[in-house]
This record gives sequence, C-alpha cells and structure tokens, in this order.
Amino acid sequence: MSGITSTIASTIASTDLSNVITNGIQVGYLISACLFFVGIKRLGSPATARQGNLISSVAMLLAIVVTLLDLNVVNYVTILGCIAIGSAIGAVMAQRVEMTEMPQLVGLFNGLGGAASALVAIGELWRYFGTANSPDTGGMISILLGVLIGGVTLSGSLIAFAKLQGMISGAPVTFPFQQAFNAALLMSFLIGGGLLLSGGLNQSMFLGTIAISLLLGVMFVLPIGGGDMPVVISLLNSLSGLAASAAGFVVGNSMLIIAGALVGASGIILTVIMCKGMNRSLTNVLFAAFGSGETATSGGATGGSMSGQSVKTVDPEEGAMMLGYARSVVIVPGYGMAVAQAQHAVRELSDQLERLGVEVRYAIHPVAGRMPGHMNVLLAEANVPYDRLYDMEDINPQFETTDVALVIGANDVVNPAARTAKDSPIYGMPILEADRAKHTIVIKRSLGTGFAGVENELFYGDKTMMMFGGAKDMLTKLVAEVKEL
Ligand code: NDP
Repeated sequence: MSGITSTIASTIASTDLSNVITNGIQVGYLISACLFFVGIKRLGSPATARQGNLISSVAMLLAIVVTLLDLNVVNYVTILGCIAIGSAIGAVMAQRVEMTEMPQLVGLFNGLGGAASALVAIGELWRYFGTANSPDTGGMISILLGVLIGGVTLSGSLIAFAKLQGMISGAPVTFPFQQAFNAALLMSFLIGGGLLLSGGLNQSMFLGTIAISLLLGVMFVLPIGGGDMPVVISLLNSLSGLAASAAGFVVGNSMLIIAGALVGASGIILTVIMCKGMNRSLTNVLFAAFGSGETATSGGATGGSMSGQSVKTVDPEEGAMMLGYARSVVIVPGYGMAVAQAQHAVRELSDQLERLGVEVRYAIHPVAGRMPGHMNVLLAEANVPYDRLYDMEDINPQFETTDVALVIGANDVVNPAARTAKDSPIYGMPILEADRAKHTIVIKRSLGTGFAGVENELFYGDKTMMMFGGAKDMLTKLVAEVKEL
C-alpha cells in the first residue's frame, strides 16, 4: 500500500515539476521575445545599436538556456559540444573579418541558418520513413516549406559568398530560357511536394525535393551581379528567418517561430531600403543582370574621360589650405574609403580641422559602400561622434552653403547624372549633392567608374579638384599638412 502511495506521490511531484518547467519555458520565451523587440528597435540608430546588439544577444542566450531545460532533450553532451564548437568558430570569424568582408560573412551565416532549418525539417520527416505513420497535413506543409526555403537559402547564400569572396566570377550568369527553366524547377518541387502530401511517403521523392531546393538557390543567385549581392544577402537573410519560422512550426517551438518572423520581416525591410537607395525595384535587382555591362555606359576601373574633358587637380598641401581656411566642410565617405580602411585618418583630419574652428559634418548616403550602414559602422569604429553624421535628406539642402565638400572614395552616390541623364542606369537614384558645394575635392586613385560603371561629370566640374591617390595615403598627407596650419 505504501509502495502505491509513494508511486502516486512521486507521479504527482514529477507532473508538477514538468508543469513548472513547461510554464517556465513559455515565460522565458516571452521575456526573450520582448528583449528581441527592444534589441531590434535599438539597432535602428547608430547611437543605440551596440546596446541593441547586446540586448538581442542576451535574448538569444536566454532562449537557448530555456530550451535546454526542456525535459525532452535527449543528449546534453552532444548539444553542449556542438554549441562550444560553433561558438568558437563564430568568435574567431567575427574577430578576423575585415569590415569590407562583412557582407559575405553575413551571407555565410544566413546559409548556415537555412541549412539548420532545412535539417530540422528533414530530420522530422525522416523518422516517419519505415513506419506506418506520417505527419498531418499542417506538419507536412511546414516540413516542405522548411526544406524549400532552407535549401534555397543555403545554396543561394553559398553562391553569394563565393561571388563576393572572388571564388567565382561576380558577373551575372545568364542563359536562354533561364526563367522558364527556373519555373520548371519550382513546378517539379510543387509536384513532388504534392505527392508527398497526398500520402505517399517516398524517400527518393523527398530526396528529389531537397535536391531541387538546393538547385533553385543556385539558379536564383547565379544571374545576379556581384555588386548586387548585399541586396541578395539581405533577401536571403529574410528567407533564413522564414525557414526558421517553418522549422518552429515543424517542432512546435513558439520562440523559433517568433525569432524567425522577426528576421524575415527585418530582412525584407532592409532589402526594400537598399532598393530605394539605388532607385531600383527588387525585380530589377533580381532579374536585370545588373553589372553585366549591358546596363552600364562606359568607363572602367582604371581609366575614363568624358569626351576629352580635362580635370583640375590639387595636391595635399593646397588641399589642406582649402580645408583649413574653410568655415564648413562636409565629408562624403564612399566605398573607396572603406576599402582603404581610412576611417581613422578621416577622424584625425576632422579633429585637426575642428581645432582650427572649421565646422565638420559627414554626409551619409544609404547605399554608400557595399552593405547597409557601411559608412555608419566604419565611422563609429573610428569614434566619429554620431551627431556629426547627417542623412542625405538633412545634408543635401546644406551643400550650397558649404565651403568644401570632401569626397573620399565615393563615386556613384555623388554622380549628378542621377539627376540629369535620363539614359543613365543610375538616373533617379537619390544622390548626395556634393557638386552644389562652393568647392569639391575628390580623393580617388583615377577617373575610373564606381560600382554602376557610369562616368561621373562631377570630376570635370568647374568647382571640382581631383586629389589622385589612395584614400589613406592622401588623408595621412592632408593631416600632416593641416597640422602645420
Ligand atoms: P562606388 O563603388 O560608386 O565608387 C567607389 C570609388 O572608390 C571607385 O570609383 C574607386 O575609384 C574608389 N576607390 C577604390 N579604392 C580606393 C582607394 N583605396 N582609395 C581611394 N579611392 C578608392 O562607391 P559609392 O560608395 O559611391 O557607391 C556605392 C555603390 O555600391 C552604389 O552604386 C550602390 O548602389 C552600390 N551598392 C551598395 C550597396 C549597399 O548596401 N551599400 C548594396 C549594393 C550596391 P578609383 O578606382 O579611381 O580609386
């Protein structure tokens, strides 16, 4: 009798414990989701972004810890071992990556996220093979979505990574009937998925749908030019979120669904912001093979001259005089500044100019550089105060009263052709109106074109002076000269 009593007592106790843990997990997820919201909100401004990052990381840690409390966890050693290995790899990569290589790193991480979600979906269906059971319709749809979106994200991200890393050509790869071929691939996936849904749990059919998903990702990214990869990566980031949400439905985990939806939504918002910044539609980015040479006018990385026009040049000594005796200077950083890692030299130059009483501001174009927020991140790294950074809409009306606009390794984002040349590929793209300043100094190595491959009439303007050379080198010389004033 006492044996039965103690069994009942221990059952009640374990049921209570299991309820407490289940409820605790849900509360933990709720706190974690709230922290994610706050973190994302804080990431919206450079001034609060570091805090946003920290809050989001804490939210993720909490979500992981709470998930590990789940009584259904079967093997802690494997999980903790994998977490340790993954964290070590991630930490080393984050330490080593150059700012200019950030887009491909993000791309690679997106791909791994997609792979993880696809593996969850594959694992879930796999356990039904060889049994008389099968998932219900909702479960099967979630599995197929996880495989499709996760597979596309994985292979698409790997191609984007390879293009940006220079492992394969960044040029768009196109061939006749490409869209029809892609449509046929998608159709095959849908037919395979439909057959699996209608009850026939067939291993080869499932493997076929996985292979098609991976092929679709490759075919999706191949025709897109290397320069548009940041937009593609942002879109794939959004897809990796959707894949995680699908995985959340597969395993019935609300945290995964919420976090995935957040990534999906923020990724698509970022994609739209980037497209707007370039005045291009998402369909143009995805299907126009921009960067193939067909859309660009002329010019190359090393040369360029607009129908024999000449340019005025300035050396660092004269440049320092112009800057040091100005009342206001607006610095326009671009991709070239990022490549040259010249942000610290820029900061030093502004310090020296401010010492002389010059008002220094920075004009930030939304797509300057090769990734969203590229310039903000670099300047923040060099401790440039946030209140000196001005968005395009705020600084443009101020160029006319600015004594000197100093353009450092920027090209497309200051090209007046975007305002005037209706036949230009960048016509309509909002630009920083550096050409409207009283004087403009442009630091770059040649008259070569930028990402869009379009000649820039700014370089030939009456008020423009070219300072030819690498950004870091020229800025170091400028700083030395300004110190003498
Ligand atoms: P651009 O690519 O138009 O021009 C950069 C210029 O930097 C080049 O003309 C190059 O000229 C110069 N440069 C390169 N290396 C150096 C160096 N070491 N020192 C000095 N100058 C150097 O850059 P922008 O920032 O003006 O425009 C960004 C472009 O990228 C836009 O077309 C945008 O649409 C595109 N893009 C941006 C994305 C984003 O998220 N930020 C995403 C996708 C596309 P030279 O060789 O003569 O030195």
